[in-house]
Amino acid sequence: MINFTTASFKDFENIPGMDVNQRAAYFAEYLTYLKGESRLNYRLESHTGCGPEVELDIPGYGGRRQYVSLVSNDYLGLTQHPEVKRAALEGIQQFGTGAGASPAIGGQYSFHELLETKIARFFKREDAIIYTTGYTANSASLLCLLKKEDLAILDMAVHASVYEGCSGTTVKSFLHNNLEALERILKDAKSKYRTKMVIVDGVYSQDGDLAPLRDIISLCRNYGAYLLVDDAHGTGILGESGRGLIEQCGLLQEVDIITGTFSKSFAHIGGYVIASRDVVNLLKYQSRQHLFSATLSPACMSVVKAIDLIDEEPARRIKLWENIHYLTSGLKAMGLNIGNTASAIIPLKIGVPELNARASQMLLRAGIYANPIMYPAVSRKDARIRMSLMATHSLAQLDMVLNACEDIARKLNLGKEDTYV
Ligand code: PMP
Repeated sequence: MINFTTASFKDFENIPGMDVNQRAAYFAEYLTYLKGESRLNYRLESHTGCGPEVELDIPGYGGRRQYVSLVSNDYLGLTQHPEVKRAALEGIQQFGTGAGASPAIGGQYSFHELLETKIARFFKREDAIIYTTGYTANSASLLCLLKKEDLAILDMAVHASVYEGCSGTTVKSFLHNNLEALERILKDAKSKYRTKMVIVDGVYSQDGDLAPLRDIISLCRNYGAYLLVDDAHGTGILGESGRGLIEQCGLLQEVDIITGTFSKSFAHIGGYVIASRDVVNLLKYQSRQHLFSATLSPACMSVVKAIDLIDEEPARRIKLWENIHYLTSGLKAMGLNIGNTASAIIPLKIGVPELNARASQMLLRAGIYANPIMYPAVSRKDARIRMSLMATHSLAQLDMVLNACEDIARKLNLGKEDTYV
């Protein structure tokens, strides 16, 4: 039997001897236990829209009230932009609410073509294909592109969708951002595989740190490997004109495949794959999700507007960076460990899972909503509170966060090296 005090969701993925209903009932027991311990901080329901503040009603936390939100990836705050909302409504007015079929058999519309061209041009590239989510942009495209004779070489910290997409191919992974380990794999792979594809994130979703893309691409060129970069968290934020880490590194024309999502800076839902025209065509006709599943609704016209706004309103990116510098310098001044973040994702690294859970509860009591990240999302000794910043956070809200962190650090004795073991 599973020890509930030390268990994680991963322990319930597959339990020997239990059929699906038995496993579901046992998992329900675990959820009740977590609720009883006030440790069930997932799926908290917000009664207001995405924004720097949300209204939550958490049992045991003083009823329905406002919280400063540090959980959203709507980095530029565009989900509430009047012109973005209007574009979604106009899309629905013109085309209705759904696509009615998969793209291959009647569900491909002019608004899809427009968005595909728009996102390809945004990255100054030839062609793009859109998917229903950022998740499937990775999982469905990789399932189509890489087969068992091929080799996917993954930074260990890439997103779950990449792992799923590589389930039909040979996979080797290297320690996060470790170039020597990557080179060893590339050297060893030599000509054993048809396609060798290195897959990294631009900005890593748990640490907010960056991939050393220039070094990675030269290794790829030296050893005849392709490079795919998922810059879900860098796009709209990094680079002189917001094209992400790839622009920041001057590699927009070099990276073979760029993937990303419309659910973060682009303020909607959906994903994209930017590649050569031939690879995009292959995906259009061979990627099972495009053959057997409908894609975005006409509300995705909002993304076309959001893409324009990245150029038209650079002040949002500038304000986001002011916020990032304000919060990170405040946390560092308290001696808190925020790792190597260089993005809008700021991990408050606490290490000990029990302390992390307590810190998360204390933040909620102080009116701050941030996600506690624990095993299996990160290793057991890497528990942290993950904070995501938005351009629309005010300095007063960030002061609330800093005050709460200072109080928690004092009470839990954080900021002393021995906390991080
Ligand atoms: N890639 C990365 C790096 C992510 O962090 C995420 C989700 N947070 C995704 C892809 C999936 O994006 P979406 O939520 O839009 O499906």
